[in-house]
Amino acid sequence: MPELPEVETIVRGLAPRLRGRRVTSVWGSGKPLHLRRAVDLRALRAVAVGHPVRDVDRLGKYILLGFGDDEGVIVHLGMTGRLRVSPADEARAPHTHVVLGLAGGDELRFSDPRRFGWVTAGALAANPALAALGPDPLTALDAAALAEALTGVRAPIKAFLLDQRRIAGLGNIYVSEALHRAGIHPTTAAGKLRRRAPALLAAIRAALEGGIARRGTTLRDYVDADGQRGDNAAALLVYGREGEPCARCGTAIRRRVDGGRATFFCPACQRR
Ligand SMILES: [Zn+2]
Repeated sequence: MPELPEVETIVRGLAPRLRGRRVTSVWGSGKPLHLRRAVDLRALRAVAVGHPVRDVDRLGKYILLGFGDDEGVIVHLGMTGRLRVSPADEARAPHTHVVLGLAGGDELRFSDPRRFGWVTAGALAANPALAALGPDPLTALDAAALAEALTGVRAPIKAFLLDQRRIAGLGNIYVSEALHRAGIHPTTAAGKLRRRAPALLAAIRAALEGGIARRGTTLRDYVDADGQRGDNAAALLVYGREGEPCARCGTAIRRRVDGGRATFFCPACQRR
């Protein structure tokens, strides 16, 4: 699933292609997306058609196309979603579900084989999914706020970091990487880490910024706005490396699954 660095990479690739370009049409496949919900094409047309894209932004794992003071199109890529600009005369990829026609002959295409992603439009400030998000770790979170949020939380730090209402944008990959960098065991109670909030935040940022610098982590499906795979998989310290020696101490990396989600960690560098 694309996490913050993958979504950021896509946004950086899309922004120069979309900013200032007028949307001329909206097309939908008619297939329902996430939670079997139909795409509201009427709302998409009302927000986008006839208007230029004012801005392309990211909040957590969401892509935001701004069309007015607060109106916008919201895209979540789910597991296998892709958002790309293609020439209108180029054949559409299989599983293309939403297409915004652009003045000048290109199309912004959302494709998603597994259909866990979604596309919606309307007032951004009033959107419940966006309103529920915690602070973005690159732009809005500081160590004092993180320490405050950790206070009294008995849940494991891994669950805390994955909870989008606490911090927006992290998933299995970057949680594993951040906890390894911080030397924290994934099952440590979040509330016990208050004093380590500055180091934890620095580790989260280092993991995310490394991912962005290498244009995202491609394990299977992810590609950027140009259709290119990211280079970050080779730089991962623990994720996907079960049984391999820890780069820091040589101990074999372990994998554990909690609530169906895998975490990779070094049992020597990350003690309970
Ligand atoms: Zn180690």
